[in-house]
Formats: sequence, structure tokens, C-alpha cells
Amino acid sequence: MALEQINNIEQVEKYPLVYIAIGIQIVFHLIDQILNYLQLTYSQRRDRPKEIKQLGFTEREFVLSQVYSFDKLVFGSISSAFSQGIKIVFLLGYLNPFIWNNVSKILPFIDKESEFQNAYGFLLLQSLLDQVLEIPFSYFQTFTLEQRYGFNQTTLKIFITDIIKNNIISQVITVVLLFGYLKVVEYGGKYFYFYALIFVLIVIFLMMLIYPNFIAPLFNKYEELPEGDLRNGINQLAVLNNFPLTKIYSVDGSTRSSHSNAYFFGFGKNKRIVLFDTLIKQLNHQEIYAVLCHEIGHWKYSHTFKHLGALMVRVFAFFYLFSFVIYNDSFYASFGYSQKSVFIGTHLFFEFFVPINTLMNIFTMTMSRKYEFQADNYAFQMGYAKQLYAGLIKMFKENAGNLLPHPIYSWYHYSHPPLKERLEQIDNLLKKSN
Ligand SMILES: [Zn+2]
Repeated sequence: MALEQINNIEQVEKYPLVYIAIGIQIVFHLIDQILNYLQLTYSQRRDRPKEIKQLGFTEREFVLSQVYSFDKLVFGSISSAFSQGIKIVFLLGYLNPFIWNNVSKILPFIDKESEFQNAYGFLLLQSLLDQVLEIPFSYFQTFTLEQRYGFNQTTLKIFITDIIKNNIISQVITVVLLFGYLKVVEYGGKYFYFYALIFVLIVIFLMMLIYPNFIAPLFNKYEELPEGDLRNGINQLAVLNNFPLTKIYSVDGSTRSSHSNAYFFGFGKNKRIVLFDTLIKQLNHQEIYAVLCHEIGHWKYSHTFKHLGALMVRVFAFFYLFSFVIYNDSFYASFGYSQKSVFIGTHLFFEFFVPINTLMNIFTMTMSRKYEFQADNYAFQMGYAKQLYAGLIKMFKENAGNLLPHPIYSWYHYSHPPLKERLEQIDNLLKKSN
């Protein structure tokens, strides 16, 4: 199936799939908003709980973290309600099929007989529209919300050039992936889901190779960490842990934001560590080693590959379930399309995948929090528990992280355990070892 007209469209049975899709969206949007509300009730507290005081957070730091969390939540709720509303209007008004049918009229360079070109034109129009709607929100988030709390370091010039760079890169990636995906599904025929799975896997590996080496440097300056104590210390730590470290970079994260971070990338024997300049400024050397021990722990326990495995299950579930409707005329006609195509089908099937995706997301988040505890435990085994404890608190203060997450909210959304739980684990490990 490339691009096919549906024969005798008037006689094709139509189901209320649009309303089912809208129903699914509303239910999951409401779940989101209810969780936001629960978290808001926690973020409203201004009296500092005893255990937060014991962790060394001053009254001022606590209130700052609360107000920041509150503002971010309100902003998130409003912007997500807005984009949800737009999506529903599009479904109810059958606006996507309208755009699909008129792509070649709006963009005259598109050949409407070609599925690839029509799909590309459709995505181009959609991305333009999304950006017109989203840029005001993102502008507000950067220059009002983050600015208010002193986190924003972005200038208007960086903000605009980032948008331009992002657009160029995403257009190139879209063309390649879209072309590849349509070919793979066409070639795969009845068992396209196996081929699509392998295609996604190859794309992920290529992106893991291309992103840090070619794309990230377009946005930030990566410099090798200068010779000195810190570099020697990190190299020693790598040797001690058999971590195949080849290069250590510092990245100017501070040109956009004062939030801090550290991570590693690279395959096999070619690992590189990246430290945000903000992290180097905020933590002392011992604390940086502790954070890196945590990162090395992730590598020791193959957490990246386990996450990749979970992702593959999700991708396979998507394509396998999609295979039940991909060639079904009613599926397309019910949404107002008079043509069948792999692209439209994929686009539509996302609507029905939301419940499964949400369940799998909860599973992945639970898994990820478990891995964070494991990585902390690894840093403890390497003798860096106290430094990690101190480093986590410092990073949390600098980032004004949420000190009072609602348990259901964090269970649903958090990839990292709440600070209090991580510190408790470290404390317990230290107590047991004494
Ligand atoms: Zn981690």
C-alpha cells in the first residue's frame, strides 16, 4: 500500500472513532490535570516541614522551591490544556483530512500522487502551525518564568537562533526518517511490524552516534576539561572502575540556563563524560567524583540497555497493534479520510495507543527510579556516599527542585526518586556499614 484511494467511500462503514479518540484524550488529560492539582496542594505549603529543615534547607530555600514548583505547575497546566483544546478542535472539525487533501494546493512544489511528498508537506504544515502556537508559551517560560527565579541565561538572540537551528535539523531528520519508514513498511508487507521494529532500533543507534557528536555541538561548546586536579581525579576514578573513558568534556550549559547536570555517552570502549560548567562551579571535586560514580553505576548495571529493551517492547506493541487496522478502509474513513496511507494510519493510530503508552510509561518510570537507587548504591560501595549526599543537596538547592512532591504525582511523572528518599537510602546504607 503506497497511497490508495478508498473505493466506494460512501458505502464503507464508518465508526465513531473520532469520538472514541477524543474520549481517550479527555480522560488522560483529566488524569494529568487532577495530578497537577494534587501536587499544587502540596506546593502551596509555606511552612517548612521538620525533615526538610533537618536536611539543611533554610526557610528561604524551601519557600523558593515551593513557589517555583507552583508556578511551573500552573504554567504546565495552562499550556497543556491549550494544546489539548487545539487537538480536539482538529479532530472534531476533521481539519487533518482537510489539510491532507490540500497539501499540494498550499505547497505547490508537492506532487500529490506521492505518499512521501504529501506526508512530508503535511508534517511541514503541522510543524509550522505547532510552532506558531507554541513559541509564545516557550518564550514566556524562558523569559518570564525561568527569568523570575534567576535560572534563565538565554538571550533573545540565542532563543531565535535555537529555533532556526532546530528547524533545519528536524527537517533533515524528518525527510530521512519518513522516507525510510514508508519504504520499510511497504517492503515488510504483512509482517511490517518486525521490519519497523528493526528500523526503529537502527535509528536509535544512529542517533546515539550522531546526536552527541554532530548535533549537540551545534548548540553548545564542548571543550576538553583542562589538565589539572579535576581531570586527573576523574581519570583515576575511571581506571579504578574499569570505565573505558576516552575524553572528558565541559559544556557551556550556562549559556542557556543555570540548571546543572552530568552524563556520559559513547559505545563500547569509547566513553566520554560531559560535565556542565554549572556543575563544576557548584560542587567541589569530591562531590563531582561522587556524581560520576553514580553515572558509572548506571553503566555497570547496563541501565541504558535495559531502558532500550523496555522501549523496544513499547515500539513493538505499537506496530503489532497497528497491524490490525493498517489496511482497514473503515479505520481511515471514520476519521474523514478518503485515502489510505501508511503515514495517515500511523498518525491516527497514535490516538489509540495513549492508554497503553501511559501504562508503559508508569512502568518505565518505576524501573528508572529503581535504577537511580542502584546507581546511588554503587557510589556508596565506591566510598562516595557522604559526598553524594552533600552533592545531591547542593544540586537540588541550585536547581530549586521540588522538595514536597505528592506521592501519586511523583509515582506517575518522576524518572528520579524524590530527594528525601534518595538521601534516606544513603543514610541507611551508611548506618548499616557502621
Ligand atoms: Zn542517575
